[in-house]
Amino acid sequence: MKRILGLSLVIAVCGASAFIQSARSQGQSQELANSPKIIARSRNNHDPQPFGEGRPVGTAKPGSNGISYHGGPLLGVLGGTPVTAYYIWYGNWSGNTATTILTDLIQNIGGSAYYNINTTYYNGSNAHVVNAVGYGGSYTDNYSHGTTLTDSAVQAVVANAIAHGLPNNPAGGIYFVLTSADVNESSGFCTQYCGWHTYGTISGSNIKYSFVGNPDRCPSACAAQTISPNGNAGADGMASIIAHELEEAVTDPNINAWYQGRYQENADLCAWTFGTTTTLPSGAKYNMTLGSRNFLIQQNWVNASGGYCAKSY
Ligand SMILES: [Zn+2]
Repeated sequence: MKRILGLSLVIAVCGASAFIQSARSQGQSQELANSPKIIARSRNNHDPQPFGEGRPVGTAKPGSNGISYHGGPLLGVLGGTPVTAYYIWYGNWSGNTATTILTDLIQNIGGSAYYNINTTYYNGSNAHVVNAVGYGGSYTDNYSHGTTLTDSAVQAVVANAIAHGLPNNPAGGIYFVLTSADVNESSGFCTQYCGWHTYGTISGSNIKYSFVGNPDRCPSACAAQTISPNGNAGADGMASIIAHELEEAVTDPNINAWYQGRYQENADLCAWTFGTTTTLPSGAKYNMTLGSRNFLIQQNWVNASGGYCAKSY
């Protein structure tokens, strides 16, 4: 799902409203078992023409796997610049285990059977995504734009982090703005989405970036469970959202590559579905192990064999 801001800024958001409705009506245990189609469909009720200038027209190829290619570039394809993720810790993360948990996530997601799903996506030259994600380091932002961020403020936070330490990596970089639970995003965090990704011009370069808020602010909307595998429901909720935005940013970095219908990207097709889960003694559920940690990560769309949601490929 995307929205247009101004003339050309397009954002892909990962919605929460259907999940809120589901949580209210069905309770936590059944949320994990929800049909992906119900959730995806209800998140897709947006303007059919949200694209700004630069949209390729008429380049979509018929998708036999339930998702179509629209001609734009991908990140991290074979022979191209590798994908590198950067974290921007915005707000107050002092003493929060999220910084360790989510760094472990990003350092171990590349090479996994889960991320391997993205290798089923390719560009116009048939160069496929490589199963690798680098971690390029982090920047700490102590409320440079206060406790309420607008969409443009999120971009300003990214620009500031690049100006003050993070590498400028337009070819392979994805910059994640991770906000502490006291920070809101005024365009709809917790009500319209739990995270989003987009691209923007920063210092003359096309920079891909993502907003991911802390679900501790709204667990019923943005966390799949309140008892989580790593003992930090907010961080564990963010792990699933980061994974979702990462794979969308890789396969649709400029919102003109892989999506289906009205702008449902690969992860959107499987949002809030987890496949088979295992329950720990604490009651926390997980569905994959990355590095030494268990995570509950939403599935992704496999662009092969007719297309399907999976947690590995
Ligand atoms: Zn999404």
